[in-house]
Parts: sequence; C-alpha cells; structure tokens
Amino acid sequence: MKNSLLLVLITCVVVVFYSFKGDPTGDGKSADVLFVGGRVLDPETGLDVVANVAVSDGRIVYVGSDTRAASRTIDASGLIVAPGFIDIHSHAINELGQRLQVADGVTTALELEAGAYPVGQLETLFPAGALINYGASAGHIWIRQSILEGAEQLSVTAQRKVVDGEKATRRGATFSAHASAAELEAMTALLSAQLDEGAFGIGLLLDYITQAMSADELEVIFTVAAKYAAPLFIHIQRGLPGDISGLRDIIALAQKHGATVHVCHINANAMGEVDAFLAMIEQARAQGVQVTTEAYPYNAGSTQIGAAVFGRNWQEIFDISYEDVEWAATGERFNEAMWQEYRAKYPEGQIIHHYGKEPWTRQAILAPGVIIASDAMPVFNLEERVHPRGVGTFARFLARYGFAQGESEDTLALLAKITLLPAQLLEKSAPQFGRKGRIQEGMDADITVIDLKTLRDRATYREPFLTSVGLPYVLVNGVLVIDQRELVDSAKPGVKLNQVVRH
Ligand SMILES: [Zn+2]
Repeated sequence: MKNSLLLVLITCVVVVFYSFKGDPTGDGKSADVLFVGGRVLDPETGLDVVANVAVSDGRIVYVGSDTRAASRTIDASGLIVAPGFIDIHSHAINELGQRLQVADGVTTALELEAGAYPVGQLETLFPAGALINYGASAGHIWIRQSILEGAEQLSVTAQRKVVDGEKATRRGATFSAHASAAELEAMTALLSAQLDEGAFGIGLLLDYITQAMSADELEVIFTVAAKYAAPLFIHIQRGLPGDISGLRDIIALAQKHGATVHVCHINANAMGEVDAFLAMIEQARAQGVQVTTEAYPYNAGSTQIGAAVFGRNWQEIFDISYEDVEWAATGERFNEAMWQEYRAKYPEGQIIHHYGKEPWTRQAILAPGVIIASDAMPVFNLEERVHPRGVGTFARFLARYGFAQGESEDTLALLAKITLLPAQLLEKSAPQFGRKGRIQEGMDADITVIDLKTLRDRATYREPFLTSVGLPYVLVNGVLVIDQRELVDSAKPGVKLNQVVRH
C-alpha cells in the first residue's frame, strides 16, 4: 500500500516535471517566449479562446492549454494575443518610421503605393538593422524619373530628398512629359528587372502624373504586371466628387490583362461616394476581376503640396478652400498668397487637407473585405509634424470601430482587416505571407498583444508623435521589440521581405 502510493507520487512528479519542462519544438529545447493565459485570436481558423502560445526560433510552435518551459514566460491573462499587424501602405520606411509604427502594433510595413527604386538598395535605409519587417514594390514613378530625367539615387518616399534650396523643384519631365516608344521599352526592362529582384508588384501613382501618362504607358505597365502575376498598387486618378471613372478605367485594364489591382485609400478617393465605389469593386470581383482596396481611419488626407491634383481644380475636387489646408510641419493654415509661394518653393512639403467626413470614413473602413492601411507619411525628425496616421492608425481602428465591443465573429472580422486580409492579398505572389497574419503552430512569430483596458491612439494633428498605448508586447520574428510597453532598442529582428518571382 505504501509502495504503490509512492509509485503514484513519483509518476505524478515525473509527469508534472515533463509537462513543465515541455518540448514544444520537439527537439528537446524550451521555448523562447511563452504567453500564458491570453485570449488568443486567429481570424483564419476563427479561434477565440484562452490559451498559451509558445514561440521558438521565429515561429509559433505551440497553441494550447499545456504549460511549457520557456526562457521568458509572460502572463497574458486579461490580454489579447493577436497576429502582428501588417501595414501594406507606409511611406515611413526608415528607422524613425518603424519606431513609431511598432508602438502601434505593426510588425510588417511595406511601401507599395509609391514603391522604391531600386528595391535592391532598400536595406541601405537600415544601416543598424530594422525593428520590423519591410519591403517595397517597384515604384513606377521613380523608374519613370530615372528614365526621363536620369535620376540615379535610391528613390523611396521615406528618403529625404528635397528640403530646400536648389533641389526643391523636382517637378520635371517625370510629372509632365509623355514617354517615347524607346522610353517605354526601357520602362518594361526596368520594371521587369525590379520584379526579378523581388519587388512586391508595381506601385503606380496615377493621380500624380495625370498629364504625363499615356494609354500606351498604361498598357506597358499592366502587361509587365500580368506577365509576372505581380499586383499593382494604385493611387487612382481623381475627378470631381462622384466621378468614378478613375476606378472604372483601372478595373477595365485589370480585366483586359488579367492583372491584380489594389486600389489605395478608397476613402480618400471616393469621399461621399464610398457606396458606389465599393459596389463597383464588388461587381468586378463577382466577375472574376482581382481587385481589392484599403482605407485609413482619419478624415483628413495628406500629400505633397506639389501633387498634380493641386494644379487642377482642387477646390472643386475636394470641396474645400485654402483655409481647410494646413502646412503639416507647423500646422499653419493657408491663404492664397501663402499657397502660391509654398507650392512654388517646396513642392515636396507635406500638407494636411481636411476634406473627409466621419460617416464616409466609417463606411469605408467597416465594409467587409476592406483592408486597413495607414498611408503613413514620410517622417524625418520629431520637430516637423506630419499627418498622425503613421503613428495611430491601428490602435485607432481597434479602439474606435467596435473591435472591443462586438461578438466574437465581428471581433475576428475586424482583426482580419489588419492581419489576415493583407497577408492573403500578398501571399499569392509572395508565399511567405502564407505564414503571416495568423496565430497557428508553424506560423511566423509576429505577434501583437492588446490590452483592451488601455488601448487607444494618442496621435493628433497637433501632436502627431504621441505613440499608441495598450499594446504592451510586440514580437517580430520571435523577438520582443516592445516589452512591457517599452521599446527594446537593441532588438533589430526585422527583415526585408521579397516577392518570390514566378513568371
Ligand atoms: Zn496615395
């Protein structure tokens, strides 16, 4: 009797020891990080359960109720363990931009709308390594600039190129001249070479080159994109409020070429016609056209004062006037004289134009299938203000649009807009995204932990660099970059992501 009791006791101790010691990787190692007792959300499988999540060597190795040994165990009770947020529209691809975005829960930020050229030099923006994952499309406008104006330096909007002085007027042939047949041939070669180098599709700023763009050039771009099965990320051409022709033209081209198109910031383009724009996209999708879209959760837009749209009848297009526009760096409101002066002197200076309305924004960002992306503006220092969307988009979206309040199904659908949907958009051409945007065993350990009790964005137009709160832990490739609300400065686990070329 005494002996058998002892045997039971020893067995118990052994079982308990092994379950604590754990073996989540199957190779005898303990996990790197273990989150215990968090509410684990996975939009793909519909998982919404209190569980433990173990991470080893950059991957999620265990999701379940067992306890595991780990180098670092984090009590996640009362917190949400979610996939890291994926931002497919960020112009803030530099060290400061990443610091601001990671505090907003972003683990991957890509420059897809304006793109970069040459993408092979993107690493040079991160001489000390990157905090979060990054990548870029082949920027058509930079390739155009290199062909028409001979610009040879790395071009990406995150790079400060023009501040003042003689370099300030970079509005040459790139923005005004049609490309010749020979130049279009060169464009085919450069776009193809960039896709061969791993660019994530092609970024196309159509509204910035309305005078310069010809039907032939569009044919060239769509032909290359279709050949490479590379998505096009497009800032479509604007018209007067209600004019949907910019969207219609792009959908027609996508259909003709069998190309995949992603329409950037639908809220910014559709304004009061969000319904009609989304209906047209829905109809195109029903006909088999591969078209997706995105929105950001702010009512004001932001761009450069030299943008082509401001050479057109912009007051009518946006239904605003000078006093509705501010010089982003200082917050000064414009009058006509100041406008003429600044547009001539500082064409690349950023403005914030207040033309949107909350019901339009809400409708766009809550519509099923619409991805949330920040359109983070380039940042260079903490003195010159920028639009707050590069700092607060993700916390703002989660805190203000029903994520915390809804049924589990709604919560997962909203979370999908910043995790699973962007991953699915990219995974067709970049299979590594099949491992992102999910909390499942075998997936990349890009994880953002959410504290609903404190979650909110703090960045405003006046104080745009106040980082988001309520995201106490962020892991990138299995490494903690936000730990107990603090940025881990020494951590540089971010990697450059590339599209895998198939053509
Ligand atoms: Zn844009």
